[in-house]
Amino acid sequence: MKAILTYHSIDESGSVISTSLDDFTRQLAQLETAGVEVVPLADVVDAEAPAIAITFDDGYVNFAEAAWPRLRKRGWPATVFAVTELLGQTNSWESGPAAGLPLLGASELRDLIREGVAVGCHSARHISLRGVSAETFQRETVQARERLEESLEVPIRSFAYPFGHLHGRLDDTLREAFDQIVTTQFALIESNTSPWDLPRLDAFYFRGNDRLAGLLRPGFANWVRRRRALRAFRSRLRRWRRV
Ligand SMILES: [Zn+2]
Repeated sequence: MKAILTYHSIDESGSVISTSLDDFTRQLAQLETAGVEVVPLADVVDAEAPAIAITFDDGYVNFAEAAWPRLRKRGWPATVFAVTELLGQTNSWESGPAAGLPLLGASELRDLIREGVAVGCHSARHISLRGVSAETFQRETVQARERLEESLEVPIRSFAYPFGHLHGRLDDTLREAFDQIVTTQFALIESNTSPWDLPRLDAFYFRGNDRLAGLLRPGFANWVRRRRALRAFRSRLRRWRRV
């Protein structure tokens, strides 16, 4: 069993991207109970199973305030996916109860990097890359990575698609720019998983339950498969209804 967990914001708004501090603390305790090794995202593909990597999309200030102290205490690594052109601003793309949340600035991210946090790129402006022009795609991926490297003065080697929307274009420039690309596809990492198409388990599905404590039991992989099939069915249903 190898997997990547996705968090966004640790807050009490109850939005789909939010995990309450209570749930987050309980989930870390469940990972401890499960006895799974928490490894850096950069190592998870090659790591011995069982292993898990923990990621945080968008780069919220509440990562530094609520999540990182609890991970650091356990010696657990984490990767934060930051939006290059919105450092120190707010999640202006978001509507609903989690709108307006502050994002970490460059100097805060540099402090976190010194403490051991890895930072990846989450595009330039957090726009959907589905169907964008080749020029916009380059700007939001390869160029966004270069500018983030300049701001943070460290190599940036991983990328997360905004909204999980894939462009469908995985060319050599993207493969050269990044060592890992993560998606929102709900699955475990298998032996044939590409490092440029890494599935992740969204923390949304671990709210108010103790599934993570059973991460290493055979039933867990079955549950992930069932959940994934259900998600695929629902998204097909949505497409049919739109026709
Ligand atoms: Zn995002």
